[in-house]
Amino acid sequence: MLSQVSLPLLTCTSRSFKRTCEARLQHFIGKNLHSYLGTKMTADLFPSYRGDMEYFCLGCGKRFPTDELYYTCPDCGGVFLLENLAFDELKKTSGEEWRAIFDARAASKKTALRGIFRFYELMAPVIDEEDIVYLGEGNTPIIESSPTLRECTGIRTAYKNDGQNPSASFKDRGMACGFSYLRALIRKHGWDQILTVCASTGDTSAAAALYASYVGDAIQSVVILPHGKVTPAQLAQPLGSGAVVLEVPGVFDDCMKVVEHLADNYRVALLNSKNAWRILGQESYAFECAQWFDWDLKDKCIFVPIGNAGNVTAIMAGFLKLHDLGIITDLPRIFGVQSHHADPVYRYYAVDNPDERHYAPVTVTPSVAQAAMIGNPVSFPRVKYFAEKFEHIGGKDSFQIIQVTEQQIMDSMIQANRNGHIACTQGGETFAGAKRALGLGLLSEKELCILDSTAHQLKFVDFQNMYFDNTFPPEFEVSPDTSLANRPELVISPEEKATLSADEYTRTTADTIVAKLGLKKK
Ligand SMILES: *Cc1c(COP(=O)(O)O)cnc(C)c1O
Ligand SMILES: [Zn+2]
Repeated sequence: MLSQVSLPLLTCTSRSFKRTCEARLQHFIGKNLHSYLGTKMTADLFPSYRGDMEYFCLGCGKRFPTDELYYTCPDCGGVFLLENLAFDELKKTSGEEWRAIFDARAASKKTALRGIFRFYELMAPVIDEEDIVYLGEGNTPIIESSPTLRECTGIRTAYKNDGQNPSASFKDRGMACGFSYLRALIRKHGWDQILTVCASTGDTSAAAALYASYVGDAIQSVVILPHGKVTPAQLAQPLGSGAVVLEVPGVFDDCMKVVEHLADNYRVALLNSKNAWRILGQESYAFECAQWFDWDLKDKCIFVPIGNAGNVTAIMAGFLKLHDLGIITDLPRIFGVQSHHADPVYRYYAVDNPDERHYAPVTVTPSVAQAAMIGNPVSFPRVKYFAEKFEHIGGKDSFQIIQVTEQQIMDSMIQANRNGHIACTQGGETFAGAKRALGLGLLSEKELCILDSTAHQLKFVDFQNMYFDNTFPPEFEVSPDTSLANRPELVISPEEKATLSADEYTRTTADTIVAKLGLKKK
C-alpha cells in the first residue's frame, strides 16, 4: 500500500518543493496525510464489517432469517424490507470518515467494489467478495441541462442517466444485489439447481436474464410472458441473453399467479419487485446522487417515476440511511411522478390530511410511460413506511407526488432529447413532473431538479416514432407537435443513382444537399 503513495513523495527532492507537494496533496485530500493513508488502504481492501440482516414484514411485523429464500411473508403474504440489526455499529465511524472511505473507494480497482457495492456497508453487508456480481452497473452520470433548455423551462434540471446501466435500465442495480445474494445462498447450501423467474414484459426480464446468464452454473433463468402481449423489442433482450422465454395465454396478472405458484412449491427465486434484495440494490441511486454532489443535498430535488413504487422506496430508504449515519446533513426533496393514466399513489397523497387518505388500486389506461403503467403498486406499503420517516425529518414538503398528462410526458421527452439528453418516456415523465412542480409553485429558483431517466431512450423508441409519425392510438391522448416531426429524407433515388457515373453521383448528391441546406461556399 505504502508504495502507492511513496512515489509522489520521493519525487519531491528539495525541501520547499516537498512542502508544496505535501500542501497540494493535503489540499487534494482535504485531510491530513495520516488519514489519507488510512482511507487509501481501506479503499482497496474488501470490508471486514459484516451486518446481521433480517427480513421484516410490513404486513404483520414478523422477522425472518435471510438464509432462506423468501419472496413475501410466509405468514401473511406481506412485503418485506431487509434490516441490518448491526446498523448502529456503523455509527462508531463518523460521517466525515464514511465520506472519505466512499470517496477513496471510488478509485478502487477491486471489481467487487466498483459498482453498487462501493457502498458495501449500507447495501447487503452479509455477502462475501467472491459472491458479488458486477456487470458495470451503477455510477451513472448526472448531466446538467444545457443553458438553452434551462432558458426554456426556467428551472435548473439535470438528468441522472440510469439508462447507462448494462441492460439499459436501473433494474440492473437491484439485480446486481439480488444475484449476489443468490450466489451466496447457492454456495452456502451447496444447491445445484435454482430457477430464477420473473413475470415481466420489459426491463425486469431484460435485467434478470442478463445477470442470470452471467452467473450461470446452478442458475437457470425463466421469463414468463403473456402470449401476444409483448413487442419483438421487449422480447429481444431476454432472448439474446439465452433465458427460457415461456408464454402463457392471458395478461400480466395471469403470469404473476403462475410464477407465485411456482415459488410457493419449488426452489424458485422470484425476481419481481416484491423481492426485497432488489429494493436494497436500488438504494445505490441515492448514495450516488449524494456522492456526485459531494454529499451536499441542500436545495436538491429528486424526481422519480412511480410504477410498482420500488424505486422511489429504495431512493428514500437510501437517503435516510445516509442521514442516519451523518454522511449527509440535509435530505433532498423527493418528488414521485405519475401519469394521469396510472396514478394510484398520486391519488392517495392528493388528500392532505393523512387520516382521510384512502388507498385504492386504479384501472390503468395506455401510457407512454409503459414501465410505470401500474394500477396497484406492490411496494405501496413500503412507500408509506418510508414517506412517513422522510417527512418526519425533512418536513411536509420533503415528499410529494406530482401528476402529469401523457401529452406532457411525450412533449418533455422529445424536448429533453432535442437538447442533448437520452431520456426514455419515464425520463420524460420526471421532466414533466419538474415543470408541473414549478407551475404549482412548489420549487424555488435556487433548487436543482435531478431527473431520473430510468432507462435509455432507445428502449422506448417506438413512442418517439409514434410522436414523429403522428400515429398514437387515441386512448393515449397524445397529439404530437408536428413541427417537431423528424424523419430521414432520401437525397437521391436508387434509380437516379443507377444512371450516374461514380463522379456524377458524388457531385449530384452533394449539390442536392447544398441546395437543401442553403450552404455557402467557403
Ligand atoms: C421498472 C421501471 C419503472 C418503474 O419503477 P418502479 O420501481 O416499479 O416504480 C420506471 N421506469 C423504468 C424504465 C422501469 O424499468
Ligand atoms: Zn407478515
